[in-house]
Amino acid sequence: ATPLLSAAEIARLKISFEFFPPKSPEMDGQLWDTVADLGGWEPDFVSVTYGAGGSTREPTLVTVRKLIAETALRTASHLTCVGSSKDEVHRVVEELKAAGVQRFVALRGDPQEGPGSTYRAHPEGYANAAELVKGLKALGDFDISVSAYPEKHPESESVAVDIDMLKRKADNGADRALTQFFFDNDQFERYLTAVRAAGITIPVLPGIMPIQNLTQLKRFAGRCGTSIPAFLDERFAGTEDDATHRFEVAADVAAEQIADLVRRGVSDFHLYTMNRAPLTNAVLSRLGLARKDAKAA
Ligand code: FAD
Repeated sequence: ATPLLSAAEIARLKISFEFFPPKSPEMDGQLWDTVADLGGWEPDFVSVTYGAGGSTREPTLVTVRKLIAETALRTASHLTCVGSSKDEVHRVVEELKAAGVQRFVALRGDPQEGPGSTYRAHPEGYANAAELVKGLKALGDFDISVSAYPEKHPESESVAVDIDMLKRKADNGADRALTQFFFDNDQFERYLTAVRAAGITIPVLPGIMPIQNLTQLKRFAGRCGTSIPAFLDERFAGTEDDATHRFEVAADVAAEQIADLVRRGVSDFHLYTMNRAPLTNAVLSRLGLARKDAKAA
């Protein structure tokens, strides 16, 4: 098949991958197989999520430490401040720093009761992600990514309030923003125009979620504030009982979304891998990227 991107577009492209800490021995095996496979694309960096409410901090630390010790991948640890005092956050940062971590994805996090419940800052903690970024910068010369919400954060009253928060994060030293996943590129472009108009100059990387399962994704998307455009139902129609067909459609949809964003001037992308390699491999192959390892795509 003809690659979706030209050689010049591919040369400018930067990709990063997001993983989550495994929750069982079986998932552990899957993660490390995925890391070994996707590492062949030589991503700009990879990141590991941090458990809701700080509840699964240890698996993140274990996963990040192993990535740093056993791979050549530039690894960012997600870090949330929800439910923690500043001292507790600092202890985690020092531990990660000692393990060689130089990159963080700094987040507020969701309340332990889950997204949608009211957030209350820990009395001795950071009030929000902007404060956390400032605190991190005081602890070391870290590379810091933050979140961005093209369709606004579910708790937020308006996109303008969200953009104001992003501005505070950038002013406090964030190096880039990674967006919540979205499927409406027009919406993203409008958001980016508003972000630039607010004087925010850091790169804003679209978070791309290849769709493993549209039905499951719809449930999850509602909680994240991500809309599911009607075209996705049309694209996936008739694939319910055909996993191979569904996989091909999913790879096409994500690759076409990235190619369209490249044409709109975007060059850096953050891919939600869900700890699986095949779909991400298929997306990058369709774009025309070449693996950097011997294992030809
Ligand atoms: P902030 O940047 O502090 O706030 C985000 C927006 O929410 C603000 O712009 C503001 O408009 C609005 N808002 C915040 N608080 C309030 C309030 N009290 N009232 C009204 N509006 C408010 N979660 C995890 O637990 N672990 C992870 O590893 C993780 N990784 C993520 C990675 C990415 C790329 C993204 C986009 C999200 C991730 N999240 C993760 C989810 C994130 O923790 C939640 O979306 C959380 O609700 C907000 O965190 P934040 O850093 O975006 O918050």
